[in-house]
Amino acid sequence: MFKKILIANRGEIALRIIRTAREMGIKTVVVYSTADEKSLPVLLADESVCVGPPASNQSYLNVQNILSAALMTGAEAIHPGYGFMSENPDFAEMCREHGIVFIGPTPENMHALGSKAGGRAIATAANVPVVPGTGVLDSVEEALAAAKQIGYPVLLKASAGGGGRGQKVIRTQDELAKGFNQAQEEARLYFGDPAIIMEKFLEEFRHVEVQVVGDGKGHVIHVGERDCSIQRRNQKLIEEAPSTLPESLRQELLAAGVRLAVSVNYTGAGTLEFIMDRDGNYYFMEMNTRIQVEHCVSEMISGLDLIRLQIEIAAGLGLNLTQDDVKLHGHAIECRLNAEDPDKDFRPAAGKIDDVHFAGGPGVRVDSHCYSGYVIPPHYDSLIGKLIVHHDTREKAIERMKRSLQETVIQGPKTTIPLYIRIMDNPFYRRGAVMTNFLKTRMEM
Ligand code: ADP
Ligand code: ADP
Ligand code: MG
Repeated sequence: MFKKILIANRGEIALRIIRTAREMGIKTVVVYSTADEKSLPVLLADESVCVGPPASNQSYLNVQNILSAALMTGAEAIHPGYGFMSENPDFAEMCREHGIVFIGPTPENMHALGSKAGGRAIATAANVPVVPGTGVLDSVEEALAAAKQIGYPVLLKASAGGGGRGQKVIRTQDELAKGFNQAQEEARLYFGDPAIIMEKFLEEFRHVEVQVVGDGKGHVIHVGERDCSIQRRNQKLIEEAPSTLPESLRQELLAAGVRLAVSVNYTGAGTLEFIMDRDGNYYFMEMNTRIQVEHCVSEMISGLDLIRLQIEIAAGLGLNLTQDDVKLHGHAIECRLNAEDPDKDFRPAAGKIDDVHFAGGPGVRVDSHCYSGYVIPPHYDSLIGKLIVHHDTREKAIERMKRSLQETVIQGPKTTIPLYIRIMDNPFYRRGAVMTNFLKTRMEM
């Protein structure tokens, strides 16, 4: 096993990785920007190295400084967390070249699945349905022809996109030419790659995703699925496991996820995202080749530590679990605690947290890097923690979430907590009748 690893991330996920590493007897080095000097991961890691100023591209995306920090401190492996360097195959490749283990899939896996176009091609080959759509579109003419065939409305997506960004809905033929050029320009600007694909735009659906873990030798298990349909601006707010899908459909979806991961000899933890319509037709959307924010709900129902599995596989210990070893119990829900104002279109609310008190008691887990007096820097995303609950049934988990939200106090910035309390009382949510337009149609937001 590794003696020391470096964590190339910040916030709650950096802390999450420190916690497992410590339980495994592994020393940790965390890198940080000057804006995160006083953050909890920096205070708790065995060592910390400043890699640059607040702007991510000069710190958390600064490959040279991150690799130097690893070499300087003698870290044998790098855990990238989510976002930042986590889905960058060039970074994984550079780690390899420097004799540092990248805790994640192989660069080959990441190349194959990293783009939405690549993912669609692999899914099709593995006989997994994809949303009606295209590969990379090279011209407006090609886009016009494709849209005619698919039928409006269509969605233009940056093939390299992520985090809910880089998507444009096109409702009529007249909007397409301008929209296509804009989408290409934005994709180039935000993701460094102008490649655009087109999909049929679905108006109403659920987002359901499959958690898998593979050993890189063709053995892949799933750790159930998660429903992440409660979203704003294509970004998830509340996730739960298992989904409320009928059992036969659940099994079919899980099998499709495993089939796709097996087809690329997937290594490590990954998530296959699907969208599903009212009639139970499901379509593969993309694979996230990393740990996800909402991995905790899968941990709660399985009792597994997904970060530990990632580290063990990266260290060459393989995956010593069969599908039968994975036993799922009860129901888990996660609310992302965001410092933002839900009444002002989720505007970010950085600033000082005067006082914080988190919920506790049976079946409650809090993953947060915040403490009383912590100042939320304005440079990164607004996630300040995650509240996760577990109980035997969905109904009981909802009640537990509600009381845990009511117990939580975050004084200072506006947060999404009051909104979540209202959602827990919403009759449609309680019935599990939730599509991604839930906030609009059921909460009038
Ligand atoms: P996803 O948004 O892909 O369903 P997560 O919610 O787990 O998955 O994403 C984790 C975080 O990583 C997001 O909050 C987002 O800020 C960031 N992220 C993911 N992919 C990208 C990307 N390609 N570019 C910028 N940020 C990203
Ligand atoms: P990202 O890499 O940004 O996470 P995804 O392809 O996973 O991109 O899509 C993110 C979200 O955008 C989905 O969860 C869903 O809400 C919405 N979305 C994606 N594809 C479609 C589609 N074809 N029609 C309608 N909404 C979509
Ligand atoms: Mg996604």
